[in-house]
Amino acid sequence: MSSQGINHYIEAGKRAMNWHNEYKKKIKNCKFDTIAVHGVYSMQEALDFNQGSTIEPMYMSASQGFRDSDEMEAALSYQIPTWCYSRIGNPSMYYLEGVLALLETYGTDIEASCCATSSGMSAIYSACEPFLVVDKNDPSKPINFVASTQVYGGTFQQFAVRKDEERNIKWRKVINSNNLDEWESLIDENTRFLYGEMPSNPGQSFFDLEKVAQLAHKYGIPLIIDSTVATPALLRPLAYGADIVVQSITKTLTSSGFGVSGAVIARKNLTSNIDNPGMKADFGMYIKALPNRDNGPNISPINAVLTLNDIRTLRSKIDLMSRSTMKVAKFLEKHKHIEKVDYLGLESHPLHDLAKKYLVLVD
Ligand SMILES: *Cc1c(COP(=O)(O)O)cnc(C)c1O
Repeated sequence: MSSQGINHYIEAGKRAMNWHNEYKKKIKNCKFDTIAVHGVYSMQEALDFNQGSTIEPMYMSASQGFRDSDEMEAALSYQIPTWCYSRIGNPSMYYLEGVLALLETYGTDIEASCCATSSGMSAIYSACEPFLVVDKNDPSKPINFVASTQVYGGTFQQFAVRKDEERNIKWRKVINSNNLDEWESLIDENTRFLYGEMPSNPGQSFFDLEKVAQLAHKYGIPLIIDSTVATPALLRPLAYGADIVVQSITKTLTSSGFGVSGAVIARKNLTSNIDNPGMKADFGMYIKALPNRDNGPNISPINAVLTLNDIRTLRSKIDLMSRSTMKVAKFLEKHKHIEKVDYLGLESHPLHDLAKKYLVLVD
């Protein structure tokens, strides 16, 4: 085949990107359920490339073929939209990442991007690590992060053992996450991010997200929120100022129990005291293209497609789950053998009013 030159592919890539971006803009204005059902997969793509398949295709291939060495060069230098190799990207992954970015920014004009991962734990690792780099001018300077202690057990171990104990990256622990002064008292110039889980699993700890985000930004650092329990159907932390959301897709987002996976969804142009303009401009794309390319915690295409299918009915499942939980909580609250019911949804919970402000079923 005669070569058409690398520019030919770059121009075609630009046209494809523009088309996709225009399509995303259109779908962003749709209702939550419509986005959850269709995501960024269009019928145009179905007809042009996928024999009319109305469901996102599952691409199990490890790598992608190219027409010639020019296309390959454009792809491997990230100059055209491509997937090259499924550790970095893959069409099935792309559809999942697209829909999650739209759902986490639903109802706002925030721009975000998503990087799907092999588990919730690898999502947390991927979200935190880029900030935990040593100061090049003074590599011996100790660094720290400030995080609530009421976090999922796996997160506790990752923070306490893998980061703090093994690498001396200090976890400054917030005991009462609803105490803003406690958060603030732990921050110094070597703090790299604030981290919280809300509602936490299993303690349902909860805090004023908007205020903690403002605090983070006052010190020029990002706020990372694990929003696994709520899912974007109940809470969208980016809308309240959080910089990064992590999801264990394994839990509420899928709910079918079909597989372990996770996701990092980050706003573009996030706040950080790390001198890395590319990372700050588009954190989701950055971790996908660089650290996660090198560390390899990618999602499998089969898990991406199974998750897409579960996400289509997310809102109605959360509605039913919330109603059922409330019924059980009210039943137990009145039961003569039950001393106390600890549930954010009940008025008797000390943080009920705060939770009511944030946990609202979308649409
Ligand atoms: C389960 C869980 C995780 C870890 O997710 P995996 O997919 O099991 O790795 C993280 N955060 C919360 C809140 C969880 O419940």
